[in-house]
Amino acid sequence: MTSPEPDRGAIGFAEKLLMLLDEGHFTATYKYAVLLSLMDLCLEQSTKHGAAPSMVTTRQLAEKVVEMYWPHAVAFGVGEESKERVLFQNRPLKDHSGGQAAIVREIVKFRSEHAPDPSATITRARHAKKKAFEGLVRRVEWKLVEMPLPRLQLIGEMETPFIYQINWDRTITKKTFNNWAGFDNAIRFMGPASEYLVQLAGLLRPLIQRQWAAMVARFNTDIVKDAELERFLFGVERISLAPVRNGLRDLQDGRCFYCESRLGDKVEVDHFVPWARYPNNAIENLVIAHSDCNQSKGDHLASADHVQRWAQRLDLDGSDGQLREIADAARWEKAPARSVGVARSIYLRLPGDIRLWQGKKAFRAIDRGALEVALSGGGIA
Ligand SMILES: [Zn+2]
Repeated sequence: MTSPEPDRGAIGFAEKLLMLLDEGHFTATYKYAVLLSLMDLCLEQSTKHGAAPSMVTTRQLAEKVVEMYWPHAVAFGVGEESKERVLFQNRPLKDHSGGQAAIVREIVKFRSEHAPDPSATITRARHAKKKAFEGLVRRVEWKLVEMPLPRLQLIGEMETPFIYQINWDRTITKKTFNNWAGFDNAIRFMGPASEYLVQLAGLLRPLIQRQWAAMVARFNTDIVKDAELERFLFGVERISLAPVRNGLRDLQDGRCFYCESRLGDKVEVDHFVPWARYPNNAIENLVIAHSDCNQSKGDHLASADHVQRWAQRLDLDGSDGQLREIADAARWEKAPARSVGVARSIYLRLPGDIRLWQGKKAFRAIDRGALEVALSGGGIA
């Protein structure tokens, strides 16, 4: 019954990269800077036959990351001087008194001491202040070694190296790093990963840049209004899901769709197939969950268990079931065929070695057999 996982090369790689971008455990913008920097280094360092490099060094990465954050390390102007500041690139404190990522702090400090003119280029600063610039790159390199590099490829709480391998983990100390003979500064690409980064650069770059910008907008809502445009054009919050909330709650017997325990006051309507994957407000794609469960799920895809229950619900609903009643009462959109079609397209193409969201902080290996069975059911065929 289970078909073998197809060899999907670059597409399978891209699928994992999407999951990594959807991961919610990052509190700073480092993952975007590191991914874009790795991509740029792969593009820059092709062999004379055009092949992508098999490795880069942490030192090269650090230079690239400094380059990337350089223009961000000056005050963002909004026409009101009292509100101008360098944008936070780390989740801010509630009173907006802090929230700067360490790497950005380093660059801001360097710029204020050695290149105070906001229009100063990195090239000029690098040449004019060689020694100080060298120190900056070295400090940024340590930050990268310590923090994002050993944590970047964490998907669903599990280490999933699919882009690169490194010879240290998150327990590394500064002493080890500073021991030139003992620290292996290579970032070795996994098989064809560097080739994939080159092939996919045109698709991934705007996507990563957009997510990066969105995160910065979220961290700086007091002075950046850009978040509103995207929310206005594509945002999930535009349509209130309130009209179907009570109906769905009754349908689920007052229990959370995911953990199946009683719902309290804090409930949310969740998009079963995440909005980020496919924007679908049809009744079939909506479930009620605890806010905690919903927030933990985030943009993750739910595991086969959940898919089974979700598909069963559609299957049982047939042509005059409760879901339809709820939708009709609220004059809500119904789209069973589309909802299942989207779920099939996404779930049945997932690479076999990823994990799906099961519950708070819990992920499960993908069960392709169960997914195929669940998504081929009678009433929804
Ligand atoms: Zn729950």
